[in-house]
Amino acid sequence: MESPNSLATPVQYVKGVGPKRADLLHRLGLDTVEELLYFFPMRHEDRSRILDICGAREGETATVRGKVLSAGVRTTKTGISLFQASVGGKGGVLDAVWYNQPYLRSQFTVGDEVILSGKVVRYGRLQIVNPDFEIVSGEAQKSLHLGRIVPIYHLTEGLAQKSLRNIMFGAVSRYARFLPDPLTPEIMRRQRLVDHSASVRNIHFPASQRHLEAARRRLVFEEFFLLQLALALRREERERVRHGLPQEAARDLIDQLKGVLPFELTRAQVRVMDEIRLDMAKDRPMNRLVHGDVGSGKTAVALFAALVSITRGFQAALMVPTEILAEQHYITLSRFLYPFQARVGLLVQGLHPARLAETLEDARQGNVDLIVGTHKLIQEGVGFKNLGLVIVDEQHKFGVAQRGLLPAKGRSPHSLIMTATPIPRTLALTLYGDLDVSALDEMPSGRGSVMTCWVEPAEREEIYRLMREEVERGHQVFVVYPAIEGGGPAALGDAQSGYEKLKRLFSPYGVGLIHGRMPLGEREKVLLEFRKAKVSVLVATTVIEVGIDMPLASMMVVENAERFGLSQLHQLRGRVGRAGIDSYCILIGEAKTEAGRERLNALVETQDGFQIAERDLEIRGPGEFFGTRQHGLPPLRIGSITKDMEFLESARDEARALAERDPVLADPPHAQLKALLERHYHLKQPAVEMS
Ligand code: ADP
Ligand code: MG
Repeated sequence: MESPNSLATPVQYVKGVGPKRADLLHRLGLDTVEELLYFFPMRHEDRSRILDICGAREGETATVRGKVLSAGVRTTKTGISLFQASVGGKGGVLDAVWYNQPYLRSQFTVGDEVILSGKVVRYGRLQIVNPDFEIVSGEAQKSLHLGRIVPIYHLTEGLAQKSLRNIMFGAVSRYARFLPDPLTPEIMRRQRLVDHSASVRNIHFPASQRHLEAARRRLVFEEFFLLQLALALRREERERVRHGLPQEAARDLIDQLKGVLPFELTRAQVRVMDEIRLDMAKDRPMNRLVHGDVGSGKTAVALFAALVSITRGFQAALMVPTEILAEQHYITLSRFLYPFQARVGLLVQGLHPARLAETLEDARQGNVDLIVGTHKLIQEGVGFKNLGLVIVDEQHKFGVAQRGLLPAKGRSPHSLIMTATPIPRTLALTLYGDLDVSALDEMPSGRGSVMTCWVEPAEREEIYRLMREEVERGHQVFVVYPAIEGGGPAALGDAQSGYEKLKRLFSPYGVGLIHGRMPLGEREKVLLEFRKAKVSVLVATTVIEVGIDMPLASMMVVENAERFGLSQLHQLRGRVGRAGIDSYCILIGEAKTEAGRERLNALVETQDGFQIAERDLEIRGPGEFFGTRQHGLPPLRIGSITKDMEFLESARDEARALAERDPVLADPPHAQLKALLERHYHLKQPAVEMS
């Protein structure tokens, strides 16, 4: 009955699991044998060296062997039960203690040989607390938990390390051999990689340090290779499109645009517009990423690209991650496009059905030139008459797969992708291997400074005083909370109760509330009132994190700031100081962890989005930073984008070479790869348009 199909076996039927443990594994996201096999240890402990008691050193993690001299349970002063066994051997005695596990008593008999592994501390005598242990019966048996390099897994409550390790061992020994190998023998030979099944086996239960390294190397390479292959195939596909939609901009289009904008373009904006102009004139679809810090003026660049399309008789679509941002872009762009007689439409959730139907019809009939919307744009039922350009704003909030769906609404339109997450250049080239990259690396002049402070909650009254000063000057304030409503501990604070409190404190000035669960109409109203300065204090959740542009806003107050990520805080800070007013960003928070403190300090120390992104990457690690789908990449199981850079590059080269030879993965040896890509990257090979 054993076959590759058995990889789909529910975990419940794996030896040592059963229904109860299956529930626990489910909490870790593990439902099938295959998922189990790919649940890699978070680290390993080298317990291959078993020491005599005299070899144990205070402060080190050690594995020691000795004889049980005495064993007993007692209760500490604080009422905790404590089981203690004294273990002696060559050169000394050491106490092993376990808290809250009195049942262990029955497992130890004086005179037994035991192996213990754990951290050694000194508490009078040398002590080892809550060690893993094994009773050595007769001859030293080969143990899973000691005397070898041992995997340490993430756990969930109710599931012990040893049980999970036993389950894993069973699963790995029985099923790992059925895992198909996606890499071709040529690539493995060239890159000197071990095979897939063996590396999965060794990443869990390595025979030696060398085996562990080889396994990790192989798996990291494979992960990056898949990512790079997805990008390379997309790139190949675009190369093969012969008939793009060339759109040559009128010579004076930039000048016309300058005529309607209330500010001078920066040199960076003009340069990027020029790059876009050249791309769009070609008969091959543009695929360009523009990255620039918060406030660098990306909207104007998008406006220019849209104008090129519209003035050449095409439609353009702009997709953004939040409805609030869609509404704002809709208002701004309508205003600037008005002199060009361009018609702009809005497509978001919560539109009145009649208005929705009308907008959809207008898009299909070509009665609207630019549609601004959320991911609603990529849903079924949305169609265009002649889509010439798609723009994705704040692309880091979308997944790789979503990014690819908008162009499919037309026949090879140009694509412009914008992001405020500055990415180190080498990283950008590898991550966005299928894109050309432009940097908006210059801030418009006349920006006010933003002073950033981190204060304790006790200083809140002082902050309110500062807020009042700002409001009295005619400026505006955002107050951001991590949650809409309370539910957790009352002290955490939430937008709803914050709103009620601030409404009392600032009643003469107008206090508004905005969050994602409010109906569209209400949100539009609040934003409009804020824009018209009828509201001076806007209480919000992170719905305002991206893109929101309010010129009079001079103060950003973030409550429970320790609960936000660094890049997120930087984005929030980017909401103030936009029109030359000196501004404040006040982070109210108690950083209980080292990482929290580091984050808040980093923000106080620097304004530079590029540095912040790098610090964020360091502090959170790439798994968090890039790891989620929302940030544009599928989660990486094992590779680290910063530490495994060398693999990224060799993986990219191999991927590009393969994509060139077999651009639709039609060769039988590539079937595995194709299946994997479809699964993990939703990469369907569309029929190539050659007409
Ligand atoms: P981003 O999307 O890059 O964060 P925006 O496009 O929202 O930035 O621009 C931020 C603010 O700066 C807006 O109020 C915009 O009108 C203004 N702005 C854009 N370009 C310039 C410029 N060259 N000079 C002055 N202000 C500008
Ligand atoms: Mg923007």
